[in-house]
Amino acid sequence: MTAAIPFDNSYVRLPSSFYARVLPAPAPRPQLVKLNRALAEELRIDPDTLATPEGIAALAGNVVPRGAEPIATAYAGHQFGHFVPRLGDGRAILLGEVIGRDGARRDLQLKGSGRTPFSRNGDGRAALGPVLREYLVSEAMAALGVPTTRALAAVTTGETVFRERALPGAVLARVAKSHIRVGTFQFFAARGEVENLRALADHVIARHYPEAAGAAEPYRALLEQIIGRQAGVVSQWLLVGFIHGVMNTDNMSIAGETIDYGPCAFMDAYDPATVFSSIDAHGRYAYGNQPAIAHWNLTRLAESLLPLLAGDGEAAVTIAQDEIGKFPRAFKDAYVAGVRAKLGLADMRDDDLGLAQDLLDRMSANRADFTLTFRGLCAAAQDDRADAELRVLFDDPRSYDEWAVRWRARLHVEGREAAARGAAMRRVNPALVPRNHLVEAAIEAAVDRQDFLVFEQVLEALMKPFEDGPSDPMFYGLPPAGPGYRTFCGT
Ligand code: AMP
Ligand code: MG
Repeated sequence: MTAAIPFDNSYVRLPSSFYARVLPAPAPRPQLVKLNRALAEELRIDPDTLATPEGIAALAGNVVPRGAEPIATAYAGHQFGHFVPRLGDGRAILLGEVIGRDGARRDLQLKGSGRTPFSRNGDGRAALGPVLREYLVSEAMAALGVPTTRALAAVTTGETVFRERALPGAVLARVAKSHIRVGTFQFFAARGEVENLRALADHVIARHYPEAAGAAEPYRALLEQIIGRQAGVVSQWLLVGFIHGVMNTDNMSIAGETIDYGPCAFMDAYDPATVFSSIDAHGRYAYGNQPAIAHWNLTRLAESLLPLLAGDGEAAVTIAQDEIGKFPRAFKDAYVAGVRAKLGLADMRDDDLGLAQDLLDRMSANRADFTLTFRGLCAAAQDDRADAELRVLFDDPRSYDEWAVRWRARLHVEGREAAARGAAMRRVNPALVPRNHLVEAAIEAAVDRQDFLVFEQVLEALMKPFEDGPSDPMFYGLPPAGPGYRTFCGT
């Protein structure tokens, strides 16, 4: 493929200890499963060229496109609380960066394209199921307005990968503001490489937080802004019922995007203790723990930045603590603003969070579906006859009725016209999220029957999450009742 991807690489210009140069491993029979044509165009890549055999060869890692400088990046990370000094891209290869139509720089990475010096005992490969899961969920998150990495393409490799069973191999071409993680800072901090740490921080400021460059204390400003962005993204997760599943510090993006979709899932019935990941035995990464874990991870980031925050160790600790101490407030402000919008409240009142918490407590006691309850409120805010559909979501419908009295009294104090309120609520309360049974149906058809139609249908519906779809119960109704759902890592 000749110059079809306008690469403009910067990470590879950083010191050589930041990465290892490595070529993707060839795939025997690459086949295109899905190409995100709109995203390609946003990145100024011609989608028709990407869909040619040469383009597919590049997406599968068989050909290194002109201008690409493939590397695997180095990072460390706390995995379930335990520090691992050397992780790195073990199954992903960064081809390079492109500047999109919006002027923003983005990474183009192949996930599942073979072994790297960071692979340890892994095969560097990805199975088709997790590739499709990441494609669906990351694109759904983008459509929901949650900052996220994006899926540019999925290809099957024609190779078999071995997990619990033999599975078709695949590669995901992924796009991100960058793949720099909290763990990337930890990598250099743990090695005491202060100059590399500074080079990384300067790169991140120039690339993601240019406003920090002009601050009196740029590295402090960097920390403050990263904390602010993380507070925002985690609050958005909670507001749509998303559970990342493996919030290790190596899976937390410095640019504030949702990254590394592994055992992630959306909640059906509301329960803050919900955990789907089979490897999260103690519920460390449960839905309701996510803000506390983000805070913990950011504290690890602040520790890593200490040598840059002040010449004097004690002064640096004070600065780090000051900034880290701002996380709970930043999270709460973002979350409460989101909750108000979900409930249709335009004005601010002191007890708005209490009103929301009362609803959530009732939802959890009555196993009410998260997405359907909030979507149902959009109609109920306009017309109380719509309560009929809502109250049946609660084991004890009277629990909803009691809350609705309190909610309507609060709505009544506001002057907003009912139709305008309903419309505003429909823009923040999705009708559709990538529920587990939908994602599983798409994966099962593709993996077991080479049928990609379900994947296409699910993806298409997920692209319009705020529209009431056709009354297809598989998509828009309650999920089928089943035994406890489990998700697995091992992309
Ligand atoms: P994760 O938490 O799933 O994002 O991955 C944690 C670490 O394990 C990263 O360094 C990955 O690159 C590495 N890893 C996961 N799966 C594989 C694999 N199949 N082959 C090589 N490395 C892997
Ligand atoms: Mg990861």
